Amino acid sequence: MRALVVGGGIAGPATAMALQAIGMDAVILEARPAGGDGAGSWFTISPNGLAALDALGALGAVRELGVPSRHNVMAGATGRRLGVLPLGSPLADGTPALSFKRSELAAALRDEARDRGVEVRDDARVVAVHGTGEDASVTLADGRRLTGDLVIGADGIHSVVRAAIDPGTPRGRYVGLANFGGVTRGPATADSLPAESWYFVFGRRAFFGALPTPDGDVVWFVNVPRDAISQTERAATSDERWREILVDLAEADDGPFAGLIGDGRLELAADNTYDLPSVPVWHRGRVGLVGDAIHAPAPSSGQGASMALEDAVVMAASLAGSGDVEAGFVAFESARRARVEKIVALGARSSSAKTPTGLARMLNDAVMTLVFRYLVTERSQAWIFDHRVRLDPADRVRP
Ligand SMILES: Cc1cc2nc3c(=O)[nH]c(=O)nc-3n(C[C@H](O)[C@H](O)[C@H](O)COP(=O)(O)OP(=O)(O)OC[C@H]3O[C@@H](n4cnc5c(N)ncnc54)[C@H](O)[C@@H]3O)c2cc1C
Repeated sequence: MRALVVGGGIAGPATAMALQAIGMDAVILEARPAGGDGAGSWFTISPNGLAALDALGALGAVRELGVPSRHNVMAGATGRRLGVLPLGSPLADGTPALSFKRSELAAALRDEARDRGVEVRDDARVVAVHGTGEDASVTLADGRRLTGDLVIGADGIHSVVRAAIDPGTPRGRYVGLANFGGVTRGPATADSLPAESWYFVFGRRAFFGALPTPDGDVVWFVNVPRDAISQTERAATSDERWREILVDLAEADDGPFAGLIGDGRLELAADNTYDLPSVPVWHRGRVGLVGDAIHAPAPSSGQGASMALEDAVVMAASLAGSGDVEAGFVAFESARRARVEKIVALGARSSSAKTPTGLARMLNDAVMTLVFRYLVTERSQAWIFDHRVRLDPADRVRP
């Protein structure tokens, strides 16, 4: 059987490798040209996502790119510590949660898939999808048509595959935060940050995060509560100007961020953040979906990429365990819907805690300390981090 996987981000390569493991041929169609400038944001893959990579035998190929991120350490605008949230128990081999530059992890996963014999086509934008008959096909922007036995959309929150399955499908919802990210080379404040941890500050005018890397640099991001940034505003604002605005926001608080941003380089500017709470139709005929294309949580959840990796494994196991493609998609949905929608809802609550009308901004530091001591705890989050997906070596799809 031949699967056409649309999207070569996180879910796409992982799904292609998982399908290959159950005996399918998989082709990845990625809209972007090969290469890229390596810019973009960082994210964390928690143990549940790392375990999914491990189930695909792909963790070893990417582990060295990751920066250990054992805890989220939360502080208020005065620098007062509000709480520490462990990011799950390490895997059995000791691997803790790892943070990656998103573009580097995606490229490494594509390389790994390619090394395993998966065909990866760059510069292959899918513009139309067909798949209710005996086979499934896609049309590329250059007019070529490719045919397979099934199509899986791993094409992110603005998925064309989702829209092809259901023209009335919901669109991404702006969560009220614009995102910026950057890196500062060898700052003096690196040593003052908690080691192998993200340091988060609920600032007076924005939410900040920083992660020290093993080579002495600091990766950081800023979530700015505001209206979505228009194309016009983006085009009219230089990186230098954004940095001045961010420094100004950070100067309202105590802590390292004004200095880090002032001395750093912006790698992600003016990115509006979206989520996708509940998608009514997950599949139609021989066309299905994985990753952000069906359940994008707000970035604040810290789970989008981990869920995308879990999806890849569960999709392959569901297809292998079912009599046909459609039954496989039904099994996948019933295995995944409740979990992913619960995580998306949690992400929406985390985002609203960062916006000016949000709960966190109205509460004082003392109450926030209680929240992190009693409500948002290692125990209360265990259902997220301790979840494990598996692919049985005997799982094979019927030819
Ligand atoms: C700022 C930010 C911070 C985040 N932090 C975290 C975090 O800490 N932890 C976490 O787990 N998640 C995090 N996430 C979420 C995470 O990035 C996503 O959940 C994850 O990337 C989803 O993977 P995906 O493969 O489904 O989608 P994507 O990564 O969006 O990949 C989709 C791919 O499809 C391609 N594509 C799109 N349309 C087409 C088309 N028509 N034809 C062909 N190809 C197409 C795109 O070019 C892209 O390569 C964050 C997201 C953002 C924006």
